[in-house]
This record gives sequence, structure tokens and C-alpha cells, in this order.
Amino acid sequence: MLYKIPKSFINELLINTNIVELISSKINTIKKGKNYYSICPFHNEKTPSFSISFEKQFYYCFGCHVHGNAIDFLINYEKMNFIESIKELSFLNGMKIPKQNIYFKKYLKEENLHNTLNTISLNYQKNIYKEKNKIAIKYLKYRGINEKSIKTFSIGYSNNIKNVSKNYIKKNKNFVNNLIKSGILYNEKNIVKNRFTERIMFPIKNLQGKINGFGARSIFKKIPKYLNSPETKIFKKKENLYGLFETYKYNKKIKKLLIVEGYFDVITLFQNKIKYSISILGTSINTNIIKKLFNICNTLIYCYDGDNAGKIASWKTLEISLPYIKDENVLKFIFLPKGEDPDSIIKKEGIKKFKNRIKNAVPMSKLLFKKLLKKNNLSNPEEKTKFSITAISMIEKIPGKTIKFFLKKILGNKLGILEINELSEYKIKKKNIVSSKKKKKILV
Ligand SMILES: [Zn+2]
Repeated sequence: MLYKIPKSFINELLINTNIVELISSKINTIKKGKNYYSICPFHNEKTPSFSISFEKQFYYCFGCHVHGNAIDFLINYEKMNFIESIKELSFLNGMKIPKQNIYFKKYLKEENLHNTLNTISLNYQKNIYKEKNKIAIKYLKYRGINEKSIKTFSIGYSNNIKNVSKNYIKKNKNFVNNLIKSGILYNEKNIVKNRFTERIMFPIKNLQGKINGFGARSIFKKIPKYLNSPETKIFKKKENLYGLFETYKYNKKIKKLLIVEGYFDVITLFQNKIKYSISILGTSINTNIIKKLFNICNTLIYCYDGDNAGKIASWKTLEISLPYIKDENVLKFIFLPKGEDPDSIIKKEGIKKFKNRIKNAVPMSKLLFKKLLKKNNLSNPEEKTKFSITAISMIEKIPGKTIKFFLKKILGNKLGILEINELSEYKIKKKNIVSSKKKKKILV
């Protein structure tokens, strides 16, 4: 059945297939430069506009715009169904389609890592209350973290063991292996070492509450101050979000999300009854996360740290969010005073003022024009042109028709053009630029 063929096998199959050879065995092709061409088998024509790229392992027709990979070609040209095309390519490559239990094996492997991390996390949570580690609790208290939060977020402590003894490894071979696979331990010159010695441990959970990895804060001025689990089979830094499990757990329906940078920000906000904040791991916001967040709820409020990096991150967030802003979606930004983060500012001025900051967060539209007009006073036609080209290209990325309409209206006002129709001329030009770019991407 369709869903049982693993994606990894399909990828492997495509890597092993030479699309030029495959298509050339069925229709006449000629080489021109880097690519191969032929009369398009999918529409009537006299001159060849059907191209095949060996490099991209992709075909594309300039006439009727059909395109795809080797599987798509078999489906469309030979009228095979998906499974038949996979069978055909497997046969041509002498590869065997793996049976369904590969999925199950993958699941078991992942479960194994989750269980290992859960065991070690329980250990960390016990460590924190041990007399010899009292500095850990002292530190958390100093950071204003209360007992309840330690429990809610399963905060723990990795004690001062640096190297794992040969004896322990011998006795617990499997467990040590799993700890290495899940990134807790690592092997250096045949010595098994603890990655997180003397660090406060913040488990990063998936939506079911299973632990994917850890964020770790050193309390002895060790560098780096924060250390995350390395990438593993179950921990992908670009996909995981700290606090999302807790947000789901404590909200019947998530109406909005407050996106911050740090573990302590999430916990301090939570302690102050703002139970809808999450932290991206590092400031590496990306489109996958944005898509994921807009799937959870319609209102996203970003509150990066009050520094230059935070300002840059806000703008980057705005830029890459544009293609996901539907009319029902709201995107806002909080800008904190220099040197502050949510945790520090709440301690300084109290939660009431912070709630006001949330209420008065800067909407995307305001930030957009403010930033674009920062170095442009629209004093002459050249400046106006520069501004309108950038602004239109950004606005056009937004799928929400109504928000797009209003943004264009603001733009028209700024430029002194009252007729929206006048603006649509820019729009047409922009569309042409986009489509020619797209073509290039596919072929070059
Ligand atoms: Zn065609």
C-alpha cells in the first residue's frame, strides 16, 4: 500500500535513477548545452520545448509547463499509478522495495531514545535536590524560579561527573550506547564523556510530553553559557520548540503564542500566568517553524531580546512570514529596551507593564513601513521608486487579500498615489520578474 513505502526509499530510488536515460529510452532527445531537449510528449508542438536536466533530475516544458521527476514522468507518460512507477524504477535499478516493518523499526528506535532521555531526566530531577548539588537550587531561586515551575518543566541538574568509568560502561553497555545516541554522552579518544557536566537541564518535550533533547545552562561560568543537545534522530534544533508541550497542556484552546528566545523567559512568563509562550532554540527562526506556529494559532507575537540581534531577528521573521499571512493571521512584535529580555524586564517592572507591552505590540504593517522608510524620506522620484519596488515586492508575497489591499492603500498614501489602479501597474511588472526567476530556478 502507498503509505507504507518509506520516503527514504523513494529518495534513494530517485538518487539512483538517471532521468535523462529513462526519458531518452522512451522519446527522442538531443543534448543542447547542459540539458536535453525533445518535442513535448504532453502537448502539440513543432519545435522542442521539453527539457530534461541531468543535474536537477527534473523535466520541464516551456510550452505547457509540465514538470516533475522520474516518478512523475512514468505516471504522466506511461499512465502508471504511483506504486507501479515505484516498482518500475526499483526494477530498473535492481532495488528491492522494503517491507512495511521499516516504519515500525524506526518507531521502536525512536521510542528507545525517548525512554533513555526520560530515564536520564528523572535522574537529573533527583540530582537537583541532592545535598552536594544545592548550588543548583540556589541558582534557580536566584533566577526567581519557584518549586512549582521546577516540577512543571521537569527541570534538573547534571552533576559533576565528567568521564564515565570503564566499569560502568561494561555493566551498562546498552544504556551507555543509548546515551551516546541521544547526545547525553559522547566518545572522545575512547573516553566516554558527559556533555552536560554541572549544568541545569531543561528537557525539550514533544507534544506527547516525550523528551526530544535538552537545553542546558551552566552555573559555573562555563562556556558556552547555554548548550543544546546535538542533532539526533529525534532532536532537530530547527524544529523543536521549548514550552510547546506545556502550552498545550495548560490551554484548552491556544489563541495566541508569544515567541521568546530563552528558557528562563518561558518559565518566568508561565509563573506570571502567561501560559502561552514558547522559545525557539537559538534565534534561528525558519519557515518550517512559522508554518507550524500558524497551524497552531492565528496570532503570533514575537518578543526577542532587546539587542541588535533581536531587531535583526524581528525583521527576518517579518520577511519570511509574509507568504504565510492569511487574512485571519496576525503577526506582532514587542521591542524591549536595550539589554533586556522578557525575564529581566518582568523582574524589573512587573508583569502588569509587560502585559501592556503585549497589548501594544507593533503590528506587522507598522513595522514594515517603518523599517522601509527608515533610510528613505521619499523626497524625490528615485527615492519613491526605490521604496515602492521593495514595498510592492514584499506586499505581493502576502496571500491574504484583504490585508494586502490595506497595505497597498497605505503604500499609495505614502507615495501620494490615490488610485489603487495605478499601483497595479507595478504589480504586473513584479509578477513578470517573479515568473522568469522561477523558470531559471528549475533549469539552471
Ligand atoms: Zn509541453
